[in-house]
Amino acid sequence: TPDVRPLVAGNWKMNGTRASLDQIKAIAEGVKGPLSEKVESLICPPATLLYVATALCEDSPLAIGGQDCHQNAAGAHTGDISAEMIADCFGTHVIVGHSERRTDHAETDHLVRAKTEAAHAAELVAIVCIGETADERKQGQTLDILKRQLAGSLPDNATADNTVIAYEPVWAIGTGLTPTANDVAEAHAFMRAELVKRFGENGRKMRILYGGSVKPGNAKELMGVANVDGALIGGASLKATDFLAIYGAYS
Ligand code: PEP
Repeated sequence: TPDVRPLVAGNWKMNGTRASLDQIKAIAEGVKGPLSEKVESLICPPATLLYVATALCEDSPLAIGGQDCHQNAAGAHTGDISAEMIADCFGTHVIVGHSERRTDHAETDHLVRAKTEAAHAAELVAIVCIGETADERKQGQTLDILKRQLAGSLPDNATADNTVIAYEPVWAIGTGLTPTANDVAEAHAFMRAELVKRFGENGRKMRILYGGSVKPGNAKELMGVANVDGALIGGASLKATDFLAIYGAYS
């Protein structure tokens, strides 16, 4: 998308112990350089590593974020973390509505919208995930699902600065399967049109990431598709060399 700075983001999910901080260090070093002016980079480690990870990135352009936040600012919610807590650890972004959260924790569009609002209240950039299942795609419902999830998961005051969309077909996550470049182009053009309709200029500039089995070998093709403004990477973000190879697809 013209005038938009792509974002290459890694989602470590429930992976990573202190030993994995070496990978964060390597990524923090690897993204230093002129490409960082053109392309933003982010790793979302598990919450246990957040605070140490941000300390490791003090003089790197690599941003660190959370993988989820509670919709409330504080309170009796054992086991949850708030957007404020992520910001307090110097995290700058948070993923919300990942399909694993939607499935494992029955998260609805309505809840994801509340979490997005909580993220904004803590001045975090919300990375809002949407995407169809294999069944929905088979039944030709992909665009209807994307329309409904976009409408329901985004607050009215979302801007290009505080919100990023991640299109992640559920069947492509962790499977090694990816949609064709044409399918990605169709989905992203559709989402762009929906965002422009609702948010005007902010919708034109809001980044739409592609996620689902992005690897060093397919990154260049996927990132080259119109309206794809970066990647959300699961498995391949755990290894610094793979993450950096995908990031390098923009060079
Ligand atoms: C993800 O879960 O955000 C993801 C895209 O996973 P993977 O890259 O492993 O498919």
